[in-house]
Amino acid sequence: MYGKEKFICPHCGTGTSNIWYNVWIDSANGELHANDIMPSALLTITEGDKAISICSYCNEWSIWIEGDLVYPQTNLLIPNPNEDLPAHIKDIYEEARDVFQSSPRSSSALIRLAMEKMLTELGYNQGRLVDKVNALVKSEGATEELVMALEIIRLYGNSSAHAGFIDLNDEPEAAEELFIVLNLIADHQFTRKKRLKNLINRMPESKQAQIREKLSKLEVAADTGQ
Ligand SMILES: [Zn+2]
Repeated sequence: MYGKEKFICPHCGTGTSNIWYNVWIDSANGELHANDIMPSALLTITEGDKAISICSYCNEWSIWIEGDLVYPQTNLLIPNPNEDLPAHIKDIYEEARDVFQSSPRSSSALIRLAMEKMLTELGYNQGRLVDKVNALVKSEGATEELVMALEIIRLYGNSSAHAGFIDLNDEPEAAEELFIVLNLIADHQFTRKKRLKNLINRMPESKQAQIREKLSKLEVAADTGQ
């Protein structure tokens, strides 16, 4: 979040204000100089520009060269993708993580794309994202929590592409939360079922059959609207 007063500190993860310094080396004697500067004055980037920001919460330094954060590593604060996500969706998640510090808005659009790929993977593959979400909402497995999570990512992620209700570059905390929400959906759609199936598979066949019978009654009830 180069040249912004407030952003999520890559050291402590707090969305807080920062003091900025531009930094240069005196060519005559090789000495390093730093001047405090208005953040907005940094926004015109010229070759070789170096700057330091200091977090007002943890007092740690971040170092920027030509607008890019070079220290510390930036994606450490964002959780890893859910283990059970398919590899091609994990790749999109990682890409979102990589761009997060420089553009929370772009990272949110990528998280939205990851969710769309997840829905396709689950068999909701007709139409636009809103149609896919609606199809899942109508399915028997939809819970209140799942519907909220899907809509949060759909709408926040969309705000980057159109005239949105929020500029996520000004609200990086919200953009960061979307990673957690995507993992919630993955947990709901992949992990929980896998965990339960693993336990059922360890039962004797007769017990597994009892469970299958109960599940088939549920499906009949759902089909007949009971
Ligand atoms: Zn900090």
